[in-house]
Amino acid sequence: MTVNFVGAGPGADDLITLRGKTLLEAADVIIYAGSLVNPELLKLAKDGCEIHNSAEMTLDEVIIIIQTAVEAGKTTVRLHTGDPSVYGAIREQMDRLDKLGIAYEVCPGVSSFCAAAAALKAEYTLPGVSQTVILTRAAGKTPAPERESIRSLAAHGATMVLFLSAGLLDGVSTELLTGGYPPETPAAIVYKASWPGEETVLRCTVATLAECAAKTGVVKTALVCVGNFLGGDYELSRLYAPDFSTEFRKAKS
Ligand code: SAH
Repeated sequence: MTVNFVGAGPGADDLITLRGKTLLEAADVIIYAGSLVNPELLKLAKDGCEIHNSAEMTLDEVIIIIQTAVEAGKTTVRLHTGDPSVYGAIREQMDRLDKLGIAYEVCPGVSSFCAAAAALKAEYTLPGVSQTVILTRAAGKTPAPERESIRSLAAHGATMVLFLSAGLLDGVSTELLTGGYPPETPAAIVYKASWPGEETVLRCTVATLAECAAKTGVVKTALVCVGNFLGGDYELSRLYAPDFSTEFRKAKS
């Protein structure tokens, strides 16, 4: 019987994919990441569906539930927030299922970093500003490799989005500055992107990140977005430039 890792999307219950919704509706067993998945999505579960909150479970416990469901011929959805491939801890689950000979599929989701850009009405990859998006996190309880320190990543001056770091902003700010972003570089903290009635956008600079978060008490479920993509200057795209030919459009002379 099928096991599907499904991206729940960033929060709003209509930001799950159509495929994800269909899989949820068909599931006999749902294991959802209760710390961040919007519980509204569980209303899609059919009558009699067995629902487990993985926030209260260990990896072993999650795997046992999946294994038991498979042995009973039941369909399982493992529901992860955003997209499962970003800080989703799915690799360790997939490896365990591989060892048990249990097949699975992965259904992508809308990651919160996309919902944050939508909340900011921003484009991460502005011509003439940055063509790179660094997705990272501050080292907290989970360490990060030294070569990926925020300080060294900051040297690129690229667009940066920090997950899991809203409670560590004093250190984050210092690292960003030491690494090379000028203090006045625009930054934003996006809390609960896309969650109806809860989404909050705080705009500040790299130097004032911690102060800005402290004022509002945001310490979690937030992304920190940094870079001049939040500023006013950029170049127009070549794609839509009148003097530029593409496969689909001839340049106007
Ligand atoms: N797989 C998820 C990320 C899980 S890690 C994704 O693709 O979005 C959990 C972290 O994601 C949180 O600490 C927070 O930094 C971020 N996050 C998740 N949902 C969020 C949301 N709706 N708004 C802002 N940040 C969010």
